[in-house]
Amino acid sequence: MRQKRQNQINQKERVQKERVQKERNPKEKNQKVCPVSSKCGGCRWIQKSYQEQLEAKSTFFRKLMEPYCRPEPIIAMEEPAHYRNKVHAVFGEDRRHNAISGIYEEKSHRIVPVDSCFIENQKADEIIVSIRGLLKSFKIRPYNEDTGFGLLRHVLVRVGHATGQIMVVLVLSSPILPSKNNFVKALLKLHPEITTMVLNVNDKDTSMILGERERIIYGKGYIEDRLCGKTFQISPGSFYQVNPVQAEKLYIKAMEYAGLTGTERVLDAYCGTGTIGMIAAGHAGEVIGVELNRDAVRDAARGARQNEIKNIHFYRNDAGDFLLEMAEQGEKLDVLLMDPPRSGSSEAFLNTAVKIGPERIVYISCNPETLVRDLRLLTKQNYRVEKAVAVDMFPFTDSVEAVVQLLKK
Ligand code: SAH
Repeated sequence: MRQKRQNQINQKERVQKERVQKERNPKEKNQKVCPVSSKCGGCRWIQKSYQEQLEAKSTFFRKLMEPYCRPEPIIAMEEPAHYRNKVHAVFGEDRRHNAISGIYEEKSHRIVPVDSCFIENQKADEIIVSIRGLLKSFKIRPYNEDTGFGLLRHVLVRVGHATGQIMVVLVLSSPILPSKNNFVKALLKLHPEITTMVLNVNDKDTSMILGERERIIYGKGYIEDRLCGKTFQISPGSFYQVNPVQAEKLYIKAMEYAGLTGTERVLDAYCGTGTIGMIAAGHAGEVIGVELNRDAVRDAARGARQNEIKNIHFYRNDAGDFLLEMAEQGEKLDVLLMDPPRSGSSEAFLNTAVKIGPERIVYISCNPETLVRDLRLLTKQNYRVEKAVAVDMFPFTDSVEAVVQLLKK
C-alpha cells in the first residue's frame, strides 16, 4: 500500500518536473504553451529556448555597445515564466453576443480570446476569466467599438509581487456600474485575495486603455510592492516595472554603477513611482526625483513618507524643463540617474545635463535604439561610457533593457 502510494507520488513529481522543463524550453511545445502566440505577438520568441534568447540578446547588445565598451554578461531570469505583474484584457462580444476577453490581434482591433498566458501572472489571468463569467448574471455588456454600445471596455489587473496585493481596474465606457456593490461582493467571493478595485471611465475613441476619471469602489485605490527593502505604492496609471524579480536586479546594478558614498546630490530623472530614487536615498546626501505623470508623483511622495525617507523630494515636471531650471539656478549635481521612456531622453535634457556636469550618469534604458542615440550625444561631449549590462526584463520577447555607466572625462 505504502509502495503504491510512493509510486503515485513519484509519478506525480515526474509529470510536474516534465511540465516545468517544457515550460522552460517551450521550443518543444510552443503551440501548446500558447495556442494564440502567432496572432498575439506578445511573446515573439516563444519558439526559442531561453538559452537561445539570452545568447541573441547578448550578441545584439555587445554589437550595439562596440564603439563604447564590452558589456558585462547579461543578467538572466531564473524562472522565466509568468513574470508580468500587470495584465490587461480587452473585452468584447463574439458573433453570438457572448462576452470574450483577450488581446487585440497584432496591428488590428480584432480580439483574440485569451484565458491564460505564458508570461502573465496566473492569478491575474484567473481573475479576468472570473470577471467575464460574472458579466451575464449582472447584465453587464462588453463594449462594442463599432456600435458604441456596451459598458465594459478593459480589465487591468496589477499584482504586488512581494506583498500579494491585487488591484482590479474595470475600464467602463460610462461611469455607472449597475449593482456595483453586489458585483464587488461576488468578485471578492471568488477572489478574496483582491485588495482594491477601481472604476475607470474611458468614453473616448482612443487606443489608450485608461481614461482620466477614476472611482475607488473597494480598498485603497492602489497596491504596494516591495523591492530592495523599500515599499512602493502603485496607482492604476503609474509606471511600475512589469517584471519585479528582474527589476530588483536592475536597480541593484544601477546602485552599483551610481557608486554612492552617502554624501552625493542625486537626481532621479523620469522617476515614475520613485523606486530608484528611494533606493538611492539611503546611500546619498540628497535625492531629487522628477516625473511627468501626476499619479506617479503622488505615489512617489506617499511612498517616501511610508518608507520614512527624509532626504528625497519629488517634483512633477518635464525632466528637460526641470533640469534647465536647475542649471539656471546654478544648482549642483553629483550623480544623475535617468530612466526615460522608449522614446529616450531629449536633446535639451542631455545638453543641460552635460552643462551641469555630474561626475556620473547612470542611464537605464528599455530601448537600445534611443539609448545609443543619446550615448552618441553624451560621448561627443564630456562623458565616456565605462560599464554596461543588459538585464533580461522581458523573457520570450525581443526587448532588451540595459544599464550604462558614464563617467565625466
Ligand atoms: N524610473 C521609474 C520609471 C521609468 S519609466 C521606474 O523604474 O519605475 C519612464 C517614466 O518617465 C514614466 O513614469 C513616464 O511617466 C515618465 N516620463 C515620460 N516622459 C517624461 C518627461 N518628459 N519628463 C519626465 N518624466 C517623463
